[in-house]
Amino acid sequence: MPKPVIFTIDDDPSVLNSVERDLRAQYGQDYRILPINAGKIALEYLQKLEQRNETVALFLVDQRMPEMSGVEFLMEAIKVYPQAKRILLTAYADTQAAIDSINEIRLDYYLMKPWHPPEERLYPVLDELLEDWKMRVHLPYDGIRVAGTLWSLASHQVKDFLTRHQIPYQWLDIEKDPNAQKLVEGVTSEIKLPVIFFPDGKVLIEPDLKELANKVGLQTRAELPFYDIVIIGSGPAGLAAAVYAGSEGYKCLVIERAAPGGQAGSSPKIENYLGFPAGISGDDLTRRAVSQAKRFGVEILSAQEASQVEVKDAYRIVKLNDGTEISCHAVLMATGASFHTLKMPGADALTGAGIYYGAAYTEAMNYKDKDVFVVGGANSAAQGALYLSRFARKVTVLIRGPEMTASKYLVDAINVNAKIEILSNTDLIEVQGAHTLEQIVIKNTKRNEVQTCAAAAMFVFIGVQPQSKIVSDLVMCSGKGYIFAGPDLMVDKKPPQGWTLERDPFLLETSVPGIFAAGDVRYGTSHRVASAVGEGAIAFALMKEYLKAL
Ligand SMILES: Cc1cc2nc3c(=O)[nH]c(=O)nc-3n(C[C@H](O)[C@H](O)[C@H](O)COP(=O)(O)OP(=O)(O)OC[C@H]3O[C@@H](n4cnc5c(N)ncnc54)[C@H](O)[C@@H]3O)c2cc1C
Repeated sequence: MPKPVIFTIDDDPSVLNSVERDLRAQYGQDYRILPINAGKIALEYLQKLEQRNETVALFLVDQRMPEMSGVEFLMEAIKVYPQAKRILLTAYADTQAAIDSINEIRLDYYLMKPWHPPEERLYPVLDELLEDWKMRVHLPYDGIRVAGTLWSLASHQVKDFLTRHQIPYQWLDIEKDPNAQKLVEGVTSEIKLPVIFFPDGKVLIEPDLKELANKVGLQTRAELPFYDIVIIGSGPAGLAAAVYAGSEGYKCLVIERAAPGGQAGSSPKIENYLGFPAGISGDDLTRRAVSQAKRFGVEILSAQEASQVEVKDAYRIVKLNDGTEISCHAVLMATGASFHTLKMPGADALTGAGIYYGAAYTEAMNYKDKDVFVVGGANSAAQGALYLSRFARKVTVLIRGPEMTASKYLVDAINVNAKIEILSNTDLIEVQGAHTLEQIVIKNTKRNEVQTCAAAAMFVFIGVQPQSKIVSDLVMCSGKGYIFAGPDLMVDKKPPQGWTLERDPFLLETSVPGIFAAGDVRYGTSHRVASAVGEGAIAFALMKEYLKAL
């Protein structure tokens, strides 16, 4: 946290030097002394201080200055720093102006020039005022501040990215907070959101995630041109494989298009993972796994999407969206699955503006005391509903079938939660809203009744699809896109067509030697954290066999 500022303004250089010297001698250790020679320049400087979220403790301002008097300056300055203490430096002739301004700008004190000796005439006054300021001031948040609106998708994506990377930030809603609005107007006149203010004074306006990742110090570039193993995806499967690969000294790179943790990272509480009887949140599990992998020397790239995998003799080449190519011997596809999106008019436009896919964690706080909806009846939807009920006034869960399909412990918890209502046999048929979600139209398919409901937000958890597109032309996949591996590739006990090795594919090896699959992207997986972790660990053991035979 930077030191609070004592601002002193005087157009007479000799007076300014002398005030500065006296202030620095007494307060320099705890405060930053800022001497400025004109009111207008000082106002510009104040804006910069505000953008950097620095705080001003006290203004010590000469009354008689050309262009802008001390009182005129203070009238503007206290709009920006209303808590700062105000002292006017006056000559005898200006006493009346000082007295008049006591009410006008709630002047704390007026000090007659000359103020010497400062030990008698300056410091006692300032000591008292600064003590009082310290007692009352709410020190500003000194971390990253994200200013935006609830209806801006990019604002949601930035918040989600920071949350998923466990990087603390303060959210400033410019529609609710006039100071935040002013702060944004101070750096851009365009309607580009979010605007991100960093403690070092740097500002990013609607950045892409890679730019943001670089700014917050995340790794986005591979350090080496070649790795033994490249893992695409950093959910539980990818991170488990990475921990084992790193622990055994293999050069291993993990590529992640968003943030580590995958779907599990968005779970408020995983209660069925072995060894955590009270449950563990997805971000806690992720934080532990990421530190474990990094401790073993694994590199993890954030905000980098793999776009293609190619085979060149014994090498496997992974291409990234930014054109980078990374070469390795073995690739693990641990790209998991992502939620289906709603296919209905208006849904795309309202995504991130009231409609969220599995993002209960990031946005729940914004819907305190509001009525929200959850779509879906499986485990992830049930967890989302329970988490949201801690903030929302009411959570209505829409399910197509007669009952929820979530695990018993989750259904039991929902049944005793007074804030959650389940609407079964219910189809979502329309979403409505100008800038943000306002209403949804639902239909009870048993009674054939259509109903319009006010909705502040809707969190959608309607089944997942495997993220295998980047290899769908290279390896064999099921009709739904799940990657076949090991025994699932065998037909009449024979390996698939085009298989070049004498041995059969390993248990988690795809139809291309050296390319493996684990977790939710693999055909036949059980969509559980523990299975993904187990498969990741086994995949590494098999990749090790593969590397040994090269
Ligand atoms: C809200 C929620 C709650 C859940 N709760 C539980 C629970 O309590 N218990 C339980 O056992 N299971 C739970 N699950 C299921 C569990 O989280 C998944 O089965 C598990 O995360 C699958 O792990 P994975 O590593 O295979 O894939 P994922 O977790 O899906 O991770 C895949 C990763 O790959 C990345 N990726 C994809 N494509 C690319 C690309 N081209 N380039 C770079 N990166 C890419 C993705 O961004 C993602 O981070 C829950 C799921 C959700 C959504």
